[in-house]
Amino acid sequence: MKKTVALHTLGCKLNFSETSAIGRLLENDGFEKRNFDEVADVYVINTCSVTENADKECKMLVRRIQRKAPEAMVVITGCYAQLKPEEIAAIPGVDLVLGAAEKFNIASHLKEITKGDSAKICSCDIEDVNEFTASYSINDRTRIFLKVQDGCDYNCSFCTIPMARGKSRSDSVDHVLANVESLATQGAKEIVLTGINLGDFSPPTPQRGDLEQQSNKENFFSLIKELEKITGIERYRISSIEPNLLSNEIIEFVSNSKRFMPHFHIPLQSGSDKILGLMRRRYKKALYAERVGLIKTMMPHACIGVDVIVGFPGETEADFKETFDFLHQLNISYLHVFTYSERTNTLAADMKPVVPVHVRQERNKILRNLSYQKMQYFTNEHIGQTRSVLFETKNKNGMMDGFTDNYIKITVPFNEAWENKIIAWKI
Ligand code: SF4
Repeated sequence: MKKTVALHTLGCKLNFSETSAIGRLLENDGFEKRNFDEVADVYVINTCSVTENADKECKMLVRRIQRKAPEAMVVITGCYAQLKPEEIAAIPGVDLVLGAAEKFNIASHLKEITKGDSAKICSCDIEDVNEFTASYSINDRTRIFLKVQDGCDYNCSFCTIPMARGKSRSDSVDHVLANVESLATQGAKEIVLTGINLGDFSPPTPQRGDLEQQSNKENFFSLIKELEKITGIERYRISSIEPNLLSNEIIEFVSNSKRFMPHFHIPLQSGSDKILGLMRRRYKKALYAERVGLIKTMMPHACIGVDVIVGFPGETEADFKETFDFLHQLNISYLHVFTYSERTNTLAADMKPVVPVHVRQERNKILRNLSYQKMQYFTNEHIGQTRSVLFETKNKNGMMDGFTDNYIKITVPFNEAWENKIIAWKI
């Protein structure tokens, strides 16, 4: 009988694509996949360090596994596993903890452990993590998340990601193109390019080191120009890109592209230059406004999502109001609002004065309200227009969702014939 494995992702799209890749590796090693709520021989939890309460969530999932399948092997990997391996190994029921460099060697590590032994930690210093491992999700969702870049060389003062994922490194353009071509033959319609700092995509230069090679150094712009030429994929999205890396040429390219969707997700984090400085972000609010202005001039229908953090140390009422006013007048479509929380070993964790937690929560609520209004406004602007919608699969309520090119969600009764199809739809 084949051994079975069930996998679960905490966190972002990048983690999701990696979980998918780990699942495929184990399938190639003879495992059969199960849903996470079913009984399996091995459970893998791919954790996140950004999610608040990652430790609690992880413990809760392990407890659930123990009740359901006390004999099963429990493997924890991902950012949290890299940052706090001992803490995770101490959770009763955990058998194996895999750090950033080891998660794709899971199959061989599994062969070396026995249930009942104390948890084994396979992890190295994050400085030693240099390799890039491509991953993508398929058969899990209609949209495919393709990882083309990993790690980050920025040092935002609140962020643990560079410590959890290491230096910025990227796939080669040729390898990304080969993956995309293969995905096209498997029926993929939409690919979401993902990375930790995607705009920093910078493939390894060949060893030759001659001048011509260096002057031809590839970057994110060269990647998207090449992807546009692949005829088998109808849609690409750029998952998220730092404002200082979103160049005029990228915006102009997307505005003329047949395949790159008019949808941008651009982290802002704060609308106060003072707070942006404390956060060690690499731009000021004026640059952000300029980027949004250019996008909307070239693509008035473009959807723009914004990440913002509230309650960063030193954020006064006036600073928060500045952020609110900035976002209020900005022509954006929705916000992802994060409440600041202290992370061990970050610069911000020692910054003073801290904002009381209840104030952080109030500010979060205010911006979530603003996000709702922005989304309503953006959607209403498109009522009556016909836009292309890629329909996904049946959802839990027996309905199906789809997204327009500019990321408006459409929900209709399930129709099998529309699954993974792009349809012109009057909103
Ligand atoms: S750009 Fe800043 S927030 Fe984003 S991953 Fe890098 S350090 Fe973290």
